Amino acid sequence: MKKTCILTGGSSGIGLAIAKAFLDNDYIVHNLDISESEFGHFHQCDVTNHQQVQQIIQDIAANGPIDVLVANAGIHVSANIENTSYEQLERVLSINVKGAYSALQAVLPSMKARNKGSIVLMGSDQSFVGKTNSFAYNISKAAIASMAKTTALDYAEFNICANAVCPGTIDTPLYRKALNNYCERTGADPQATHKEWSAEQPLNRIGEPEEVADLVLFLASDKARFITGSLHAIDGGYTTQ
Ligand code: NDP
Repeated sequence: MKKTCILTGGSSGIGLAIAKAFLDNDYIVHNLDISESEFGHFHQCDVTNHQQVQQIIQDIAANGPIDVLVANAGIHVSANIENTSYEQLERVLSINVKGAYSALQAVLPSMKARNKGSIVLMGSDQSFVGKTNSFAYNISKAAIASMAKTTALDYAEFNICANAVCPGTIDTPLYRKALNNYCERTGADPQATHKEWSAEQPLNRIGEPEEVADLVLFLASDKARFITGSLHAIDGGYTTQ
């Protein structure tokens, strides 16, 4: 029987690579995103809408078991605390943290009923370290690390594993937006900045979404059945410096 994966933010960047990797590995993929995608079963969904997320996942669970959740949807705002408006903080936390909470809470009954499940939350290198001009995002990704740990402990008795994947800088539309914002603010050249940022990574390059998808696929698989509550850096060595 095919396994079922619920994925948020699966229409672009890392999420899109995850959707393709899971489809290639014979999963049924349900993608909850605000933007449409042709990969997997698309559910128009804003993860800040708690009721909507819960309803979609309950409807999927009514048709069969849920094996995997990948809570991936996230946004970034480039600003320090003084330049972060209350609304921006609320938006980042609503998508990055509360959106993950809504999806996670909704998949648990199905996983508990089968005594089996894999949850992968999308953290960041900023789950481990601070970065400049990234106030709201930084605290949201630290919260994701905690969410993985607390869920791992509460649901270990149900054989449910919860982990966070913590990518460094990965070349996606979100990354390109952050690069352009930085260049607009500072007058720097985008190509030169991209090169400069690549050189900041020990492996001397920005990561690819497919590389993150491979790790997510492994953590979701039975091969990772003894891994829970851990944070998995995939950052070309950035956080080890
Ligand atoms: P993208 O912007 O490329 O993709 C994010 C997807 O989530 C988009 O399809 C986006 O839609 C969707 N989305 C945004 N808001 C919502 C919402 N409210 N409800 C449902 N879907 C939504 O980002 P990335 O692929 O770069 O990032 C994916 C995850 O990986 C995020 O959690 C990010 O924080 C994390 N990450 C990314 C890194 C990077 O360097 N790229 C590094 C570390 C972590 P739309 O395009 O319409 O906005």
